[in-house]
Order: sequence, then structure tokens, then C-alpha cells
Amino acid sequence: MKPRVPVRDIPPERKALYYAGMAAGAIGLLLFVSNFFVIASGFDDPFAMRDRSGGIVARAFGGIVLMWIGGGMMNVAARGLAGSGLKLDPEQARRDLEPWSRMGGGVVADALDEIPAARRFVDDPSDRAVEVVRIRCPQCRALNEESDQFCGQCGGRL
Ligand SMILES: [Zn+2]
Repeated sequence: MKPRVPVRDIPPERKALYYAGMAAGAIGLLLFVSNFFVIASGFDDPFAMRDRSGGIVARAFGGIVLMWIGGGMMNVAARGLAGSGLKLDPEQARRDLEPWSRMGGGVVADALDEIPAARRFVDDPSDRAVEVVRIRCPQCRALNEESDQFCGQCGGRL
């Protein structure tokens, strides 16, 4: 078991990517919405409208693509490369998803409950410190369970 680096927060580079994605999405939305104003302004001038139609298609398409890319960037930033499935690395996915699961208030953990294999990424029992109390036999120095009354090695009273 590798020592686990606790992830308290989403790394700054992922936060930057998230906001960049948000900005790209916002620009895409503005680009897309701007068409309605172009179309509205063209109603009184059908000839000018015809000249603009190419620009409208480019704007609508560019807007949709920008929104799509922006959404993708936000998704990757929030879940991490491995967490969003772009990179197949279960160990990293767990670390990437950790701040995200915390943000979701356990919603992700609840959903993963359905899949036993995936559950291990969220709640790995090996991560928890297991405290085992053992008793050393005063006669032979063998280690015994806390609940034992007699030594398993020599049979002496503990
Ligand atoms: Zn003993």
C-alpha cells in the first residue's frame, strides 16, 4: 500500500482549467445568443440579412462548439483526468475524485454503492488504521489475542 497523499482541495491548475472552461462556455453562449440579435436586426433589411447568413451559421456553430469544449474542460477540471475517464488509472481516479465526492456531499459515494468494485475507490478499508491489541505471554513471550485467557504457545495463564 502506497502512502496516501491526502487531497484536501482541487489542485490550482484544475481550478484554473475549470474557470477557463466556464469562460469558454460563457463566450460560446454569448456567441450563440448574439444570433438572435443579428436575426432581429435583419428583419427590416432582408438584403443585409442574406449577407449575414454565413456569419450566423459560423456564430451558431462556433458558439455550440465553444460551449461543448467549455463543458468538457469543466468536467475534466472537476473530476480530474482519471476521474472523468479520459485516463485509465483507478488509483489516480480515486485521488482525482476525492475532492469531487466531498463536494457532492456523498452523492457520488452513494451512487458507487451499487458497484462493489467501484466502492473500493471511495471507501478503501485498507486506508483505515486497524488497531489490534495483542498481549505478550509472561512465560514464553508469544503474542496472543486480547480476548485470549491462556497462551496459544505454552498454555500459560495470561
Ligand atoms: Zn506462553
